[in-house]
Parts: sequence; structure tokens; C-alpha cells
Amino acid sequence: MNSNLLNTPIDYLKGLGASRSELIKKELKIFDYKDLANFFPKRYLDKSKYYKIKDLPKFSCDVQIIGEISNITEIGIGRKKRLVAYFYDGEDEIELIWFKSIKWLKKSLNLNTKYIIFGKLSFFANKVSIPHPELELFKTENLKLRAKLQPIYPSTETLIKKGVSNKVISNLVKILLFDIKIKFKETLPDYLINELKLLDKNSAIYNVHFPENNELLSESIRRLKFEELLFLQLQLLKKNIYRKDKIKGYNFNIVGNNFNKFYDEVLSFELTNAQKKVLKEIRNDLGSKAQMNRLLQGDVGSGKTIIAFMTILIALDNGYQACLMAPTEILSVQHYEGFLLMSKLLNINTVLLTGSTKASIKKDIYKSLESGEIDIIIGTHSLIQDKVKFKNLGLAIVDEQHKFGVAQRSKLWAKSVIPPHILIMTATPIPRTLAMSAYGDLDISLIDELPPGRREITTVHRYDKNRLSVFRFIKDQINEGRQVYVVYPLIEESKNMDFKDLMDGYESLSREFEQPKYQISIVHGKMKAQDKEFEMKRFENKETQILIATTVIEVGVNIPNASVMVIESSERFGLSQLHQLRGRVGRGIHKSYCILMSGNKLSNESRLRIKTMTETNNGFIIAEKDLEIRGPGDIMGTQQSGVITLKIADLMSDQEILTYARKCAKKILEEDKDLLDNKNKTLLNTYNHIAQNNDLWSYIG
Ligand code: ADP
Ligand code: MG
Repeated sequence: MNSNLLNTPIDYLKGLGASRSELIKKELKIFDYKDLANFFPKRYLDKSKYYKIKDLPKFSCDVQIIGEISNITEIGIGRKKRLVAYFYDGEDEIELIWFKSIKWLKKSLNLNTKYIIFGKLSFFANKVSIPHPELELFKTENLKLRAKLQPIYPSTETLIKKGVSNKVISNLVKILLFDIKIKFKETLPDYLINELKLLDKNSAIYNVHFPENNELLSESIRRLKFEELLFLQLQLLKKNIYRKDKIKGYNFNIVGNNFNKFYDEVLSFELTNAQKKVLKEIRNDLGSKAQMNRLLQGDVGSGKTIIAFMTILIALDNGYQACLMAPTEILSVQHYEGFLLMSKLLNINTVLLTGSTKASIKKDIYKSLESGEIDIIIGTHSLIQDKVKFKNLGLAIVDEQHKFGVAQRSKLWAKSVIPPHILIMTATPIPRTLAMSAYGDLDISLIDELPPGRREITTVHRYDKNRLSVFRFIKDQINEGRQVYVVYPLIEESKNMDFKDLMDGYESLSREFEQPKYQISIVHGKMKAQDKEFEMKRFENKETQILIATTVIEVGVNIPNASVMVIESSERFGLSQLHQLRGRVGRGIHKSYCILMSGNKLSNESRLRIKTMTETNNGFIIAEKDLEIRGPGDIMGTQQSGVITLKIADLMSDQEILTYARKCAKKILEEDKDLLDNKNKTLLNTYNHIAQNNDLWSYIG
């Protein structure tokens, strides 16, 4: 019965006319009773507290005062005309001000009558006042009603303009809850509610709208957030369990010649503890008979590549092929060259395949890949083309994953009889709690330590007008034998302008850094791949000292002799991009610098980004800041698909509840992975509903 009631269109609510109902549907996506019940307030007004004027806060906030109007006057003329009432609480006086409805107010305000006023304090020219307060005649019977927190609902400009005020919405909810007395089915099992001391669903919904008191309000919010995050985690963890259960993986239980020889004879440094730990996690996966699906997070320069290579060696030791996919041609080439050096010492056949590989060579590669002559193939997304067929692909590694979509990833799966093991590497660190929501279906490894001897990169902010001193600094560095990157933004929307900036920059640098003493390379998106490669090579071989580039060098480039990164128009880059770019220097033994150039005018956000960069080198702190500035939706992008939309919980601010919910979800599934136990029946029903509808809040039991 009740479930039908919850599906009732809002048009049936008493007093809601057709036009307003249409507006609410359109603006707030509230179509039926359950949508309305699940439309949560964004904040609450506390009207339980009364101030004396002498105790008023010294900052702008909502206050409530009881008193009388002692005098009313009109001040100013024309558009500056306003009505001022002097409001007296028995001891002190404060001004109430109105700019509108003056005539009407003047007539209807009573002097020497007790009112309750409610409004926001305004501080202007050392004077405090309350503009446009709410006024209500003081009646003792109203005091009790006011003692409660009042919900403020999200709204839109259109709604406000058309007179659908907060009061209208809150009245509709009131009708639904207190006249119709609608009931909500429990979505959590009793044992959880008891164990975790949670409020029941029905009370939670009632109290989230019209809290009895502050304590019940926070209990309601906790219960609803927990519920939301628990089901989110159940979905993600179950996907993961399913994969491990049902998706068979190649069993790489041999650690053989390639790996051992590399470890004993080729590897010239000691792995960091973090690298060792991660390698162990990977080896466990590879020998577990389930498919590995692991995300490897590590700050720029933390040494992910060597881990990738060693993982590949295990695949080869077990008789399988491996591939490494990188987002750009330059990166692929770099990986290829690095791998080639190591491969030669081990007699491994490694090839490179990119968009600019010659057709005849491509053909050869396709053939020897299928026959199994090739052990390792490295390339851009040309690797996922259908033409690329393997004899036995056992491992696929994806570098700098954020450039690849989920769909592209899954294409890799299809390239072998059973899905290859997958290792995804990313230098864009995501705070752990967020990662476990965004990538809940992946296992996560973390390299949280840089190789020894790395020195902090000194980062400074310089305005364009200080360019000359920046040039002097660059010259000093070059004279000491170092090399310098100068990076320009290139943003699709302003491509032509950006390109002009880049070329102007090139010209002015050429003038300042004259040939033949100084040589400059330039790399940008409009160049052919082989020209880019040629220019990169010149820089790599130290034939040029300055590399001017657009963000093509954003990820992965490794030139240890480069010690200065100049980022032009740095205010236009995002935080993670800036951090990535900075990571191009500080890769060798030389003290390194990052110089963030900007114009004089900076938005608050840009200023904050630049400040963050100058204050820390830590990618995780930067990621957290980035999240604060931009919000998580942006970062996760499409990766959130397949996961329920959050209505009340916030992945950023509710990390504590999230971690807790994840722990609970884990425990539940460890005991009963298919939720078939009788005590989990409620969970299963809700779970199934979410799996089908991608929505927790439409579940009505
Ligand atoms: P990223 O994680 O950004 O991909 P790389 O794998 O490119 O980092 O490593 C950066 C540099 O650090 C490389 O030159 C690599 O050889 C070196 N490196 C990696 N691990 C170690 C280590 N344990 N000790 C010393 N140097 C290391
Ligand atoms: Mg890398």
C-alpha cells in the first residue's frame, strides 16, 4: 500500500497548483512523494535562540531578537529611499532597514508592540543593522513551535523568481509527513541498526526535514549518509569479489631467469621499501589464479616504471607476452628506449608501435606479435586496434591512466583468451578514501616514498614583469650545464591565441638567448611526430639547452639534467597539471627549480593553486587541495559511472563515515558474500534495487 503511496505524483498534494507542480518537477526533479521525501535540506535555521542586542555576534550571521519598534522614519530620496525602524529590546537599540515595500510597511508596522525579528546582521560603516528582517508578532504559543530547527532547501533562481519560496517547499514536505503521515521502509537489517546504534529510516527521514532537536538531526544525517555510503561500498566490493571469483587469471607462479637476472645483475639501485612492498602485492596477485586489476599510485618520480618492467619480466618468465600502453607518442618512445636498454641485456625482444610507425614495420610487428617472437610491445592507443593480435598476452600495463577511458581499458581485456592481468599506473594521486570509491573495483597499491637523494624542488611565483630576472636565472643555470623547460598552456578553446603566445615566447627567448651559444628546441601539437621526436632528441642529447613546449611534455618525460621548469601563464593550469609539469625536473642530482609565471590579475582560485604549489612538493597534499578547490565530481569524471549518485553524503567531507561504511561492507561480505543469509534479506533487496536502477533513493521496499 505504502509503496504505491510513495509513487504518488506530487500533483496530489493539497494546495499545489498545476503550474507550481510543473515548475517543481522541472527545476528540482521532484516528481512524486518519495522524491519529495528524499529532497534533503541543505542547511537549517536555528530559531530556538534569542539574542540580546548587546550580545550580538560581531560578524554577519542570522540572529533572532525579541523587542519593540520605538520609531520609524524614511531616509533618502529616489532610489536611495529606505525605511528605518529602531528596534528596542528593553536595553539597547538596533536598526531594521527596508529598501522595498516601504509604503506598505509604514502602514502595517505597529509601534510599542512586541515582535520577534529574524534576519542577517549587516555591518556597514561601523554600524550594525538588519536589512529586511522577518517579523512576527510575539505570542507565547508560537515560541514552542519556533524552538525547532527550520529546514532550508536547495532552490533555483527560477523557483525564487516565480514565488516558489523555501516556505512553499517546506510546507509540501510538512503535508507529506504530518498530514499524509507517509511511512518509510527500513533498508538496513536490524542487527546493523542495533550494533551501530543507528536511527531507523522513518525517524531519520522525519528528522532530517523537521528535526526535533540538534541531536536527532545529526543522528538522522549520520544514518542517511551511512546508508548511502554502505550501499555504495557494497556495490563496489561485490564487483571486486565477483571479478576475483569468476574471472580467472593466468597463474604466474614462476619467478624465473628474466626476473632473477635483472634483479641480480642489471638493477643498479636498491628498490625503496615502498617499491618492494608494491612488488610483493603484485606478485601475490599474479599467483592468485584470479585476474589482477590493480591501480599503482605513486607521485611523479617515485619509480613506477621499474615496477612495471619487473612485473613484465614475471609475465615473460611464465611464457607470456606483455604490453605497455602510454598516452602520448613521446612517452611511448621514452618507455621504449628505457626498456630497450634493459631488454638487450636480457635477450628480450621489445618493439614500439605508435601512429607514426612505418606501414611496412607495422606489418612485421603484427606478424611477429601473433607468432610470439615479440615479448614486449610498447605503444600509444594504437595497441588497442583490432589489428593488433597477440600469441598470448598475459599482462597489460597502462601508464598515466587518467588519459585513458574505461572503455579503452576494456578493449585490452579482449586481446587474450582469458583477460590479461592489468596494472594501471598513475601519478595523479587520489586521496585514499576517494580512490576506494572511484576505483572500488580495483585493488590499490601505493608508492609513498621517493628514491633516496631526491631534493625538494624549489618553487617560486614570478609576475610577467619580472621576466628579466627570470632570464638571468636561466642563464646562470645553463652556464652551469643545466637545461631548462619552458611550458606554455594550450587549451582547445583558445588554441589559436595560445599558439601565438607560444610562438611569441619562442621569438623572445631566441632574442634573449642568442645562437650559437644557446640552442633552443620547440615541441608543440601542430608538429609531425617525427619532428617532435627529433627536437626531443636534441634536447635529450644536450644539443639544445632550452625546450619550449606546450603541455605535450606533461607526463613522463625523463631528462635528469634538466633543472628548471618555467611554466608560462601558470594561472591557467590546473593543480595536478602543474604538479605533473614540475615533476619533469628534480630527476637527477642537481638542485631543481620550478618558476610559475603569471600576469598581475589572478582569480582567487588561481592564487590558491599557485600558493599551494609554492608551499608543497607532496602530490597527495596537492591532490587533496585540488579536490577542495574543484570538488570530487570533476576529478572522477566518468569513472563514477556504474556507481550510485550520492544525495546526502560527500566523498570529501564524509571520509570518516565512508571509511567506516567500507569496513562494515567488507565485514558483511566476508561473512555472506552473496547476501543470502536471512538476516541480510533487507540488504539484498535494497542492493538488487540499486544494481538495477543505479539509485538508492528510489527504493521503497
Ligand atoms: P615515475 O614514477 O614518475 O614513472 P620513474 O619510474 O620514471 O618515475 O623514475 C624516476 C627516476 O628514478 C628514474 O630515473 C628511475 O630510474 C629512478 N629510480 C626509480 N627507482 C629508484 C630507486 N629505488 N632508487 C634510485 N633511483 C630510482
Ligand atoms: Mg612514469
